[in-house]
Amino acid sequence: MQITGVGIVIAGLLPRVAFAARNALRSMRTGVQPGGKTRIVIETSARPSYTLVYGENTLTIKLSNTPADDSVSAKLASGTLVKSVEQTQIGDALNIVATLRRPIAEIPKNQIMILDPNGDNDYRLVLDFTAASATPKAASNTPSESTTAAAKKHIIVLDAGHGGKDPGCIGKGGTKEKTVVLSVAQKLRNALRNEGFTVYMTRNDDTYLKLADRASIAEKKKADLFISIHANANPSRSVKGFSIYTLSEKASDEEAQKLADAENAADKIDVDGFESFSKDIRVALSALQQHAVAEMSEEYANGCARAFNRGGIEQQAGPAVRHAPLAVLRSTVPGALIECGHLSNAAEEKLLKTSAHQDKLVAAIVRSVKNYDFEV
Ligand SMILES: [Zn+2]
Repeated sequence: MQITGVGIVIAGLLPRVAFAARNALRSMRTGVQPGGKTRIVIETSARPSYTLVYGENTLTIKLSNTPADDSVSAKLASGTLVKSVEQTQIGDALNIVATLRRPIAEIPKNQIMILDPNGDNDYRLVLDFTAASATPKAASNTPSESTTAAAKKHIIVLDAGHGGKDPGCIGKGGTKEKTVVLSVAQKLRNALRNEGFTVYMTRNDDTYLKLADRASIAEKKKADLFISIHANANPSRSVKGFSIYTLSEKASDEEAQKLADAENAADKIDVDGFESFSKDIRVALSALQQHAVAEMSEEYANGCARAFNRGGIEQQAGPAVRHAPLAVLRSTVPGALIECGHLSNAAEEKLLKTSAHQDKLVAAIVRSVKNYDFEV
């Protein structure tokens, strides 16, 4: 795994005062400190438990156990490195995403403070930082040029779920999962190619493919990222929203296990553990590699959930990113399975068929791919 640069997670977990009580966001503001430093202040009702995630041009402050609050908007001072601040909810955590004018380096510990309440103020998480000093590489290449050049090399395999004799789930209005997801995948292929990515599809028409064959296409194409597109169904027709799955040998919850059972049923393969990897893949997958692939997949899935949240796509109740023993994800290629929404929900079935909503899904996935740190 990468040790320096973008995409690292710095844990800043602090002892929690109250385990059960949820924290509340009070205010967000930026300012300029002596020496031209940018200061971000996040005020919360209880002592914050936080994690910082450094993106290429973003700094994300993840506050655990905190709901998003749209009534709190950031007060942005002029002359700072912060261009904008957005809130997104990822499971129980509030992600405060600061878009930066210039990249920053990891903030030293002594530039991060938690201040206790005083006067009119609640707890405040205070971060002070400056722009990263230009490296020789950055000096010879503008960031946008190097990003575009890097993007061209990356290979994405898109997998439209089901197909042919396997329709996937079917909405009450008769919409078939295999049809909707192929349409989304084709739009996504075009959009990603426009961004300079090399894109392959596991299927480009109404054909049936085994799950292991889909995974092995990702292997053969030496893909950097594998994205499997699906739509969901739930016995309860009121359940709606997207969710994103990564591979694990154990399901994260009962619902995730049911989903894995349903998706894996496509070719009734044995999904019990490591044995169901094809022999080639089994040899290639050292324990360390499995761990690395899992971490990269997790990073992609979290970024994808963020992009869906930002794109205003409704999230299924509960965690946005879940884990399940999904056969299609068994490979050495990092990736995720996106359940775009529920065909079992009448409103969402209608929505998923519309070109406008499919474009919205595509825009969010493109964003997630562009933000994914391929160099990890
Ligand atoms: Zn499916």
